[in-house]
Amino acid sequence: MNQATVPMESSVTFDIDRIRRDFPILSREVNGRPLVYLDNGATSQKPRSVIDTIDRYYTDENANIHRGVHHLSQVATQAYEDARETIARWINAPASRQVLFTRGTTEAINLVASSWGRDVLFPGDEMVVSTMEHHSNIVPWQMICEERCAKLKVIPMSGNGELDMDAFEGLLTERTRLVSVAHVSNTLGTINPVREIIARAHEAGALVLLDGAQALPHMRIDVQELGADFYAFSGHKVFGPTGVGILYGREELLDSMPPYQGGGDMIEKVTFERTTYNTLPHKFEAGTPNIVGGIGLAAAIDYVSAMDQAAFMAHEKDLLDYATSALCDIPGLGIVGTAADKASVISFNLEGQHPFDVGTLLDQQGVAVRTGHHCTQPLMDYYGIPGTVRASFAFYNSRADVDALVNAIRRAADMLG
Ligand code: PLP
Repeated sequence: MNQATVPMESSVTFDIDRIRRDFPILSREVNGRPLVYLDNGATSQKPRSVIDTIDRYYTDENANIHRGVHHLSQVATQAYEDARETIARWINAPASRQVLFTRGTTEAINLVASSWGRDVLFPGDEMVVSTMEHHSNIVPWQMICEERCAKLKVIPMSGNGELDMDAFEGLLTERTRLVSVAHVSNTLGTINPVREIIARAHEAGALVLLDGAQALPHMRIDVQELGADFYAFSGHKVFGPTGVGILYGREELLDSMPPYQGGGDMIEKVTFERTTYNTLPHKFEAGTPNIVGGIGLAAAIDYVSAMDQAAFMAHEKDLLDYATSALCDIPGLGIVGTAADKASVISFNLEGQHPFDVGTLLDQQGVAVRTGHHCTQPLMDYYGIPGTVRASFAFYNSRADVDALVNAIRRAADMLG
C-alpha cells in the first residue's frame, strides 16, 4: 500500500452500502446502539456467502474426507481440495500441495518451529524476530531455540513503529538460519519493508517466514513475487471461519521437513516396525481437519477476490487518513504507531486513562474496539505502557463508523474526566 494521497471520498466503484448488506451482523445493535465493529484485527465479520457455504456443507455434504468410497465422502473431499486450489491461486502459490491447512497462523508458525526448527537448528545457530511481533511469532521460536541451544535475536525499532533496518543488517551473521517477522503489525498497523527484509536475509543465507495474519485482510499478496520461504495466515481474519489457517512454504523446504504430528492421513504405510509418510500436503495434516473451515475460507476468498482491489485499498486508506486526522483533534489522545506505511489500524491512549476503561465506555456506546496488550507484551514494554485501545478497520467500515468512534471517545473522555 503506498502512501500516495488518495481522494478523501471513497472511490465511486466501491459501494459501501451494498458491501455492508453482505455482512448480516453489521446491522445488529449492541447496548441499544447500532454496532460499530472496529475489532477486525482480532477477527473479521463474515459475509452471507461464507455463512451460507457452511450451512450448505453441513446440510448437504458433510462426510469425512480422503477415506471414503461413498458419494458424500467424495463430494466433501473434492470440495476441500478445491478450496485448497482456490487459496493457492489467491496467493499465487506455484502448486496447491505447497498450501497446508492449519488451525491458524499460530499453528502454522508452530509447525515450522517444530518441524524445520528441530531438524535444522543446532547449538550456536541464530534466529531473528522483531520487537513488534505477536506472541505467536515469538514464543514458538523461544521454545525451539531453548531446546536446540540456538539464539533468538530481536530487530529494534523506532518510536514511530518502524523497524531499524540498519540494526537488522547488523544482526545477520553466517549463523542466522531464519528471520521471522510480521508483514503487518497487529498493534501498530506498520507495514514492514518485507521485500528488503527478504533480500537482506537471503543474502546472508537465512530463510524468511512472514506472519501475514494482519496483511491479507488489507492487501493481496503474491508469494512467488514476494519470495518469502514461508507465509502464514489465519482464515478468520480474512472474512472466513475460525479454526482454519494456512502455511505456504517453498516446495523443496516442505519436502525436506519431517512431519510434526503423527496420525491418520499423514501416512503412506504403517507397520509396527516402520512407518512411511504421505506426500505434500498430507504429510503435515494429521487427523481429520477442519473440513468446513477450509471450504468456508475458500468462499471468503471468492468474496474478496470479486472485489475491485484498487478501490478497496483506496477505501481503507481513506478510512485510515480520515480517522487519524479526526483522532489527532481529540485533546489528550496520543496515537501509538505512526509509521509512514500503515494498514488501517490505529492504536491510541487517552492521557491518564487505562485502555480498559476507555474500551468499556466505547462498548456502552455500541463501538467495539480491542484494549490491552494485543498479544504484543514486548512491544508494550518498549513503549512503557500497559496497553492501548485499538481500532482496526476492514473494507466494510465507513466514515460514519469513524465519526461514531470519535464521538464515543469524546464522550468517554468527558465521563472519565
Ligand atoms: N500474528 C499476528 C500478527 C496476529 O495479529 C495474530 C492474531 O491476532 C496472530 C499471529 C495469531 O493468529 P491466530 O490466533 O489466528 O492463530
